[in-house]
Order: sequence, then C-alpha cells, then structure tokens
Amino acid sequence: MNENYSDIRASVRSLSAGFPPEYWRELDDARAYPTEFVKSMTDAGFLGALIPEEYGGSGLGIAAAAAILEEVHSSGGNAAACHAQMYIMGTVLRHGSDQQKQKYLPEIAAGTMRLQAFGVTEPSSGTDTASLTTAAKLDGAHYVVNGQKVWTSRAEHSDLMLLLARTTPRDQVERRHDGLSVFLVDMKESLGQGLTVRPIKTMINHATTEVFFDNLKVPAENLIGEEGAGFKYILDGMNAERILISAECIGDARWFIEKATDYANTRNVFGRPIGQNQGIQFPIARAYAETEAAALMSGKAAQMFDAGASCGAEANMAKHLAAEASWEAANMCIQTFGGYGFAQEYDVERKFRETRLYQIAPVSTNLILAYIAEHVLGLPRSF
Ligand SMILES: Cc1cc2nc3c(=O)[nH]c(=O)nc-3n(C[C@H](O)[C@H](O)[C@H](O)COP(=O)(O)OP(=O)(O)OC[C@H]3O[C@@H](n4cnc5c(N)ncnc54)[C@H](O)[C@@H]3O)c2cc1C
Repeated sequence: MNENYSDIRASVRSLSAGFPPEYWRELDDARAYPTEFVKSMTDAGFLGALIPEEYGGSGLGIAAAAAILEEVHSSGGNAAACHAQMYIMGTVLRHGSDQQKQKYLPEIAAGTMRLQAFGVTEPSSGTDTASLTTAAKLDGAHYVVNGQKVWTSRAEHSDLMLLLARTTPRDQVERRHDGLSVFLVDMKESLGQGLTVRPIKTMINHATTEVFFDNLKVPAENLIGEEGAGFKYILDGMNAERILISAECIGDARWFIEKATDYANTRNVFGRPIGQNQGIQFPIARAYAETEAAALMSGKAAQMFDAGASCGAEANMAKHLAAEASWEAANMCIQTFGGYGFAQEYDVERKFRETRLYQIAPVSTNLILAYIAEHVLGLPRSF
C-alpha cells in the first residue's frame, strides 16, 4: 500500500505557510540562515522523524521523511538548511555503540544537539572520495586530525560534525576505500583549538563552508564503529540521502509547475492568456509528466528502503530523474514568466538557482549514471 502521509503533509504545509516568500527572499538577499524556520521544524518534531521512538524520535520511515521535505519545497521553502539533521544521525544509529546512541540520539531527536555537518568532500579529491587526505592519527586517548574539507554545509550551525578521515595511509591498504574512518567532532569544543571554519559565498543561500584541521584532538571514543571501515558506513547512508533529496526536487518541480500554470492562465498578451499557446502549454505539460514519473520512482525507492530491500539502483534513479525533472521545470517556469522570471519578487529566479544544485550535490549526475552503467547494466567500470 502506497501511503500518502496526508496528515504529515498538511501539517508541514501549515508550518510552511508561516514562512512566506518574503521570508526566504530576505534571507536569500542577506545570505542568512533560516533560524526561525529550522526552529519550527525542530519543535514540530519533523527533524527527528527517522529516529526510533526509544531515543525520543518519531520512528517514521524514509517515505514519511520524504513527504516532509517535499512539502517544504513545494511550498516555496528550502529544507537544505536542516535536512541533514534528519539523516546524518543514521550513521550513529546503524554503526555507533550503545553508549554513543544513548549519548547522542535523544538530544538530536529533541533538537538540543544539532548533527547536520558532514565533512567528506576535499578540495584535492572531489568526487574521488578514496583519495581524501585529511588524516586522523591515534595518539593515546585522542586522534590527531590534520587536513581540510570543502563544502561542509551548515558547519556554523551544527554542534557536531560527522567527519570522514584517513586512519591508514592509502599505500598501506588493500582496497582504496579501506583505511577511512568516521568520527563525531564536537564543533564548539574544537573551534579555535585546531578547527577553523570559513564560510564560502555561493550562488544560493546555503551556509556552506571550508573547514581546516590543524592538530585537532578528537577523543578516541568519538570514533564510530570500527577503525578503517568508515567508507562502508558512509555508503550505507547514501540511499536514504538520495531518496530524501529526490523528494526535495519533486517538491521544487511541483512549485515551478504550479507557479507557471497560474501565470500562464492569468498573463494576457496579444489579447489572450499566454497559456493558450501550445508553445507555453506543452513545456508545462511535459514538466508535469516528467515530475509524476520521477515521483513514482522516488516512491518506489522509499518503499523498498522502508521494507529493508536493497535499493541502490532505485535510489540513484530517483535522485537522477527528480533532479532532471526539477531543473526542466525550473527552466520551463522562467521561460513562462518571460522577463518577470528574472525579478526577485516572483521567487522564480531564487528557486531556479536553488534547484540547480541537485545536479551537482550531494552527488553529481555523472556519478549516478556511472553507478547505473556499472552496477545495473554491467558495463565496464570507468574509474
Ligand atoms: C552548495 C554545496 C553544498 C555541498 N555540501 C556538502 C556537504 O555538506 N558535505 C560534503 O562533503 N560535500 C558537500 N558538497 C560537495 C559536493 O558533494 C561535491 O561538489 C560533488 O560531490 C562534486 O565534487 P567536486 O565539486 O569536487 O567536483 P569534481 O570531482 O571536481 O568533478 C567536477 C565534474 O567532473 C565530473 N566528474 C569527475 N569525475 C568523473 C568521472 N570519473 N566520470 C564522469 N564525470 C566525472 C563530476 O561529475 C563533476 O560534474 C557540496 C557542494 C555544494 C556546491
């Protein structure tokens, strides 16, 4: 049975109504963090949706979490400021010790502790995660971390960072992904003690940063799971992330389609609504069809994930199709609005910039296609 989560959707829509377009527009102008929106999402319990009830969360599945994020985006908002609080904790939940779960999960569920910074990407390795060079060396009761991350989003708005670092040099491991480990870094304790965070100005309002580690001491007890097995733990979380991001894309696409449809019905040129022209109608209809198809794949991936089935192919295809659908819808919408698509007050240009990100992050289109080519179709490995 494909549950629609209509109650959850209705309450997210009602919360989102308190954050009208002007709210997002002003923040975008100021490149400021949506603190009030994130607080509302936290207080409503939405960010603890995936945390089991025994740790104070709602114990919902990925399909319900996807419905939450989709509704934020289809209402004109953007959940990127806090979506990671929903799923980064999955690494602690699946691979952390009982002690770590008891220590962190209840506070994350309550929102009194924010775990929404994820340090994987580095300037010199980019997509090639196995080549990352940030190193963590065990020295007594601590690991000493040196290196640099880039694009670590929300680092300034997080109490903890999930960090992927190399604990065994690459030339001493059998497989290139071995020897990487995952740590929880206490941001507040670490700032100025070997940790430096610098914001990066970007095309969208995304609170992203670069992070520098200079002999930062991380307590050995903050290692998650086994030393050297970190890459596998990160991979385990990727299907959830891809499904949730696909839901945000579908939300964006639905927002663009609704905006464009309203505008095409009401904007009169040559004495008739522009939507009467097939040159305007067809791109809207096409965007709608593509979005509905992407939503089916996203729903299928979520159902499989919640049933505990292996869903790498479906999660990747959902992310790919949804990111394509939202970008096509964005392009269609700006074209439908003509010159007004460029005016800030219509919000189309902001959403257009925002939805473009999903072709690049959290995973770029080429990497998804490479996954499908190699793992689904059996084509030769290309890298
Ligand atoms: C706003 C923003 C927020 C982000 N947030 C985070 C975050 O919180 N945490 C984090 O760790 N990272 C984050 N990222 C990083 C993001 O995941 C990377 O930018 C992305 O994975 C691509 O890495 P790169 O930018 O180094 O591109 P590169 O690896 O340099 O690749 C450049 C281009 O070449 C293509 N390419 C590379 N190799 C191949 C190949 N073998 N075959 C075909 N094409 C290839 C890529 O697909 C891409 O299009 C964020 C990025 C942005 C822009």
